[in-house]
Amino acid sequence: MDLMKLQKERKRISELSEKDDGKSVTIYGWLYDLRDLGKLRFVLIRDVSGEIQVTGFKDKTDKKVYEVMGKTNRESAVVIKGKVKKSDKAPGGREIIPESFEVLAEADDPLPLDVSDFSKTELPKRIDYRFLDLHRRKVQAIFKIQGTLLQAFREYMIDSGGTEGVFPSIISSSSEGGTELYPLKYFEKNAFLSQSCQLYKQMVACSMEKAFAVFTVWRAEKHNTVRHLNESRQYDFEMAFADEFVVMDELAKVVRYMVSEVLKKNEEELNLLEVKLKVPKTKYLTFAEVEKLMKKEKVGMGKHDLSGEAEKKLGELFPDMIVFVHDWPLAGKPFYIMPKPGKKGEELSAGFDAIYRGMEITSGGQRVHIPELLEERLKANGLKPKDFKSYIDSFRYGAPPHAGWGMGVERLTMTILGLQNIREAVLFPRDRERLTP
Ligand code: ATP
Ligand code: MG
Repeated sequence: MDLMKLQKERKRISELSEKDDGKSVTIYGWLYDLRDLGKLRFVLIRDVSGEIQVTGFKDKTDKKVYEVMGKTNRESAVVIKGKVKKSDKAPGGREIIPESFEVLAEADDPLPLDVSDFSKTELPKRIDYRFLDLHRRKVQAIFKIQGTLLQAFREYMIDSGGTEGVFPSIISSSSEGGTELYPLKYFEKNAFLSQSCQLYKQMVACSMEKAFAVFTVWRAEKHNTVRHLNESRQYDFEMAFADEFVVMDELAKVVRYMVSEVLKKNEEELNLLEVKLKVPKTKYLTFAEVEKLMKKEKVGMGKHDLSGEAEKKLGELFPDMIVFVHDWPLAGKPFYIMPKPGKKGEELSAGFDAIYRGMEITSGGQRVHIPELLEERLKANGLKPKDFKSYIDSFRYGAPPHAGWGMGVERLTMTILGLQNIREAVLFPRDRERLTP
C-alpha cells in the first residue's frame, strides 16, 4: 500500500461531518467490534480521534468486502474506503458503506487481554501488554490529558519568561544527601542516576531568573505503593529574587492554567473517565495550623511531616483547593531549604508542601543561597561540606535569594483524574518489580 497516498487521502473519524455525507472517504484504524446478523454486518472502527460504524449488506456490498468484514479479528489494523451516510441508528449519527476493506495487519486471536470498554483485566497484566492496552479509549484519554498538562505547563512557563533547562541525568554524587540512588559505572568512575535536578535549576535561575524543566528522576526506594514509582518525572521550577510565597503563587497559577486547559481541550476524555474537575482555588495553612486541625479531627501526623491520612483529610476539608502547608519544621526538610525562626523560637523553614485532592503533589521552598549558612545546614544534616564544594561555591558570585519546587508529573495526573494507582498515569512504569516493557 502507498502510505504517502493513504496519509493524503485519509480522514480522521472525528472530522467526518455533514459535509462528507454522500461522499466517498478513506479511514483507517483498528477493528473494535463486529456484529454479524447474517444479512447485515456491523463493524466498529476506531482511530485515535473517534469511532464509526461500517455497515455491510449481504445482497448489496461487494462480495469480497463483505467476506473480509465477517472474518477479520478484533483489533486488526484496517483501511476502509466507503460512502459516508447519515444514520440515526449508528453510534455518532453516521456510518460508512464500504467499497473496499483492506486488512494491513491482522491481530492474533485470542487477544492476550480484554480491551473492551468494560474490561476488568487487572493493571499488571494490562501493563504487560501495554501496546494493546493503549487501544482502549479510557487509557488513551489518560495520556491525552497528560499531554495537555505537559503542554500547558510549558506554555505557562515560557509565556512568563522562563527558560527551559535540559539537565544531566548522570551525576557524580547525591544532590540531596539521601542514600536512595542507583549507582552506575561511568568509565573509571562511580556515578549515579539523578534523583532531582535541584542544583542545576538553581544555577540557571540564579543567572536567568526563571528556570523550568520536565525532568526524569530515579529513586531507589524499596517501597511498593500506589503513589510511588522508581522512575518518575517532575515539573520543576526555580525562580530568583523569590521566597516560598512567590513560588507558591506561581505554582497555584500554573496548576490553575493546566487544569483550565484540560477543561477546555479534553471535555470528551473527562466525560469518558467520568471525572468532574474544577479549576482549584488555594488555601494557605501553616504546619502548626494543620497539626491543630488534625488533632481536632483525630488524625495522626508524621514525624515533621504530614501522614498519608492527614493529606487525605486536607483533601476532604478543602475540596478542589490546592492546600499549601508552609512554615514547615526545619527538621522535616532537606539541607538546602532556608531556615526561618518561628514566633515561639521553634526551628521552622521556608519549605512547603502542596496537597491537592488528598495527596502531596509538590514540595518546594526558598533555598539557602548564603555559602556559610549552607555549610552549617549540611553539617546539621550529617553531611560533609567538602562533598558539596562546587555547589556551595556556585553561590559566591552574586546568587540572589531564590526559591522553587518540584511537582510529580504522574502524581498530578493521578490526582486530577482520581486514579487509584500511579501506574495508570505512566505509559511504561518502573517499580520495584517491573523493568519491562
Ligand atoms: P512523598 O512524600 O509523596 O513520598 P517526596 O516528598 O519524597 O514524596 P519530593 O522529593 O518532594 O517527594 O518530590 C517532589 C514531588 O515529586 C512529590 O511531591 C511528588 O509529586 C513527586 N514524587 C516524589 N517521589 C515520587 C515517586 N517515587 N514516584 C512518583 N512521584 C514522586
Ligand atoms: Mg515532598
